[in-house]
Amino acid sequence: MGGKSLLMGQTLLCTANPFGAAPRDAFVHNRNGAVLIENGIIAAVGNSSELLHKHRNANVHNHSGCLLLPGFIDPHVHYPQTAVIASWGERLLEWLSLHTFPEEMKFCEQDYASKIAELYFDIALKNGTTTACSFCTVHPESVEAFFRSAKNRGLRAAAGKVCMDRNAPSGLLDDARRGYEESRHLLKRWHGRGRLSYVITPRFAVTSSRGQLEALGDLWREFPDCLMQTHIAEQPEEIAEVARLFPESLDYLDVYDSCGLLGSRGLYGHAIHLSTRERDRLKEFGAALIHCPTSNAFIGSGLFDLRQRMREGQKLGLATDTAGGSSFSMLRTMASAYEIGQLNGSAIHPGQLIWLATEGNARVLGMERQIGSLRVGNEADILVLDLLSTEAIAQRAGRADDIWEELFPTIMMGDDRAVKSVWVSGNKVVG
Ligand SMILES: [Zn+2]
Repeated sequence: MGGKSLLMGQTLLCTANPFGAAPRDAFVHNRNGAVLIENGIIAAVGNSSELLHKHRNANVHNHSGCLLLPGFIDPHVHYPQTAVIASWGERLLEWLSLHTFPEEMKFCEQDYASKIAELYFDIALKNGTTTACSFCTVHPESVEAFFRSAKNRGLRAAAGKVCMDRNAPSGLLDDARRGYEESRHLLKRWHGRGRLSYVITPRFAVTSSRGQLEALGDLWREFPDCLMQTHIAEQPEEIAEVARLFPESLDYLDVYDSCGLLGSRGLYGHAIHLSTRERDRLKEFGAALIHCPTSNAFIGSGLFDLRQRMREGQKLGLATDTAGGSSFSMLRTMASAYEIGQLNGSAIHPGQLIWLATEGNARVLGMERQIGSLRVGNEADILVLDLLSTEAIAQRAGRADDIWEELFPTIMMGDDRAVKSVWVSGNKVVG
């Protein structure tokens, strides 16, 4: 921070929502672009020659040919599951019992939680993700570890203590009162501190009693500027279990709705198998549906119809769901969203995929004035993407006629090798 840095490369500036306008008309591409960073903020965006001339004292980083993008945003991850990614077999409820819950038990120890938080951020940053919104575990130590690591790295990050008071091993349970009080304490301690935000986090209706959900609804009413995150309608077996546990409710969403857990700052992970009533109600509140395509394919949950949900006017995010998801990479997540789109009969444009992973996700988190685009005044979280990172990608990109054809092979086949450098708050942290 302090000095000026000038990053030179291709720029792709979004001027309209590419799900509203034609995707090709929603961006301005500049093959000789540049971004000026000053005091951790994006101070100017324009032509490289002009900015170079105007700011002769800036430290120049020439990434000619690479694409400068806002850092990727991942609005639904479980950082405590980092070490159990790619665990073989079973459906959602079995997968949780077999792989996830035993690992989450270890987060009662601060040292272990810190070790995994550091590992998670190392991997996420190498993949170009500069902001994550994470579920922690039931233990306050897991939240402390996440926020401390994010703070030390200067990251914008969001997270919350998972609340569960039934249907999980006893070492992972709180109760309605403790869930409320620990969440409230962590919220007061971390929310709004620097770049950090607290997220009220009931895991899902299967693992919380009505009393616990109502207590968290009260907490959200007390702190309405907080986000709330949970899961909904991921698998048919899960939906049947929610119907059995809450026979008085109309449907899955009604469980949350009736407990004060439906709102415009709500993030609802998966949301695959919703009824028309539930979709209408989510839209009425402007709540966000978070699509987690690698997770849905990996756990066999179903095909989320992104195009149809966009058409009906839902607010949508795109996330890894690490580690139900099988990748830390937002590039792989975009590829998976494209494949699931194809299975639903619609090809999602690369501009739409990039928009979802950046500005779209910033909107979902209510952070579009800080991150998610290369707008002047935004925080300088920037990713330098190498569009020729492997031989297989380079030979295809080399035949491209425009930026979309040049970028698409990296979306479909790229990984952390395509992430050449990453800047957080104007400081280079990768590359
Ligand atoms: Zn999840």
